[in-house]
Amino acid sequence: MKELIYLAYLVSAVLFIMGLKLLSSPKTARRGNLLGAVGMLIAIVVTLLDKAIIDFTFILIGLVVGGGIGLLLAKRVQMTAMPQMVGLLNGFGGGASTLVAFAEYMRLSGDASLTVWTGANVSYDVLATLVLSLLIGTVTFTGSLIAFAKLQGIMRGAPILYAMQKQINAAMLLGAIVLGVLFVLDPSLWLFLIIIIAIAAILGVTSVIPIGGADMPVVISLLNSYSGLAAAMTGFVLSNNALIITGTLVGASGFILTSIMCKAMNRSLGNVLFAGVGVDYAAGETAATEQRTVVRYTPEDAAFMLENAQSVIIVPGYGLAVAQAQHVLQELASILISRGATVRYAIHPVAGRMPGHMNVLLAEANVPYDLLLEMDQINDDFQNTDVALIIGANDVVNPAARTKKSSPLYGMPILNVDYARTTMVVKRSLNPGFAGEDNDLFYEKKTMMVFGDAKSVVTNLVQVLKK
Ligand code: NDP
Repeated sequence: MKELIYLAYLVSAVLFIMGLKLLSSPKTARRGNLLGAVGMLIAIVVTLLDKAIIDFTFILIGLVVGGGIGLLLAKRVQMTAMPQMVGLLNGFGGGASTLVAFAEYMRLSGDASLTVWTGANVSYDVLATLVLSLLIGTVTFTGSLIAFAKLQGIMRGAPILYAMQKQINAAMLLGAIVLGVLFVLDPSLWLFLIIIIAIAAILGVTSVIPIGGADMPVVISLLNSYSGLAAAMTGFVLSNNALIITGTLVGASGFILTSIMCKAMNRSLGNVLFAGVGVDYAAGETAATEQRTVVRYTPEDAAFMLENAQSVIIVPGYGLAVAQAQHVLQELASILISRGATVRYAIHPVAGRMPGHMNVLLAEANVPYDLLLEMDQINDDFQNTDVALIIGANDVVNPAARTKKSSPLYGMPILNVDYARTTMVVKRSLNPGFAGEDNDLFYEKKTMMVFGDAKSVVTNLVQVLKK
């Protein structure tokens, strides 16, 4: 029986690894997701069969309630709110690790009331991983709640900074580690575990509040990695190989994603975590700017320009997702292609609100994958392009990233749209993007501002071009 169970865990681990591999390309991502889900189903079923479960009542209630809420949220959540949803799920993962690890401690102690430690000789490695599981799991839980609150607009995105912040955080971490070592030496000291959980809960909050909203995607990805680590630690506590492997995969892939995102923003992880950059503006509020003028064009002017362009690079951004204009945009691209123009899409790594956001959105509209080009592949082509058509993007084309040292965007590589012969920007106003930074591109001579909701403007363009 044991061998069969190990074999099943191995199969699910292989499915996870294959799933991750397939997730690395939009073409195969759906299949990758399915493989991962099948792997998880096998792991859950086998775990339920493996353990001597006395009563399935609570498991069933958890399955129905948790599964129901998950299903509802997954169906209802807007693509634009996906980062905070992922953030919340990471948090639940961390919280679950904490709960499971603590429950296992109660089981090991031999006395559920924790008044006496009658536990058998529990090895140091189990106790140490138990402490780590509680520590990392709880930091992930509260840190993710703060990340969720910042992205959902419940909390303001601007960094919250105070004196000696880093030192206080370091002292708290050190304190938790010291208590952890003392606990490992004497596992009857359950109160230390409670204090470690409390410190970790505070640490999760205090280490995420100084991070600006624009850096939240990196934090979410890092917390994702933490939730994997916490799960792997819990796997050691429970001696469950599937949990160890899955947790490690989540931990490693989350960390790789974090470094890819840091690279895309040209920031070091230390800079993202400790620099406290970023401002935010409440809805409708904008940065104070000196009086400058922009030239406003109608969709008819824009259609005329596009009609005469030989080459067009479309730059999609968050506003495209908000307006759900991907289908009509694909129609526009097809019209231009049928008239002989070269049309491609330039995808910035942090365009939208989550990694791969634009790829998913455009795949939904059946844009052929070979028209989607990563920033590095296409950035040198803007200078030979007639029109750079920017739809609902802002930060990813903001030249402040190149020159303005005080900007939260400074150092982030951007799409070189201003090198194209004409830059056309479709958005509703002159409001700044996610990072709250005003965009000089809008005021440049060769920039055509076409104001309006992305879907209605692009629909208009399609109508004019069809005529
Ligand atoms: P931005 O958020 O910088 O800009 C989006 C623009 O879209 C806004 O300026 C807004 O202007 C416009 N917009 C909003 N709604 C509409 C609409 N209905 N029709 C037309 N335009 C609209 O988006 P980018 O994609 O350029 O940049 C992404 C930003 O998000 C970066 O700062 C990135 O760091 C951050 N981020 C990225 C994540 C990721 O992993 N991809 C996750 C979280 C944050 P207006 O109001 O005038 O219409």
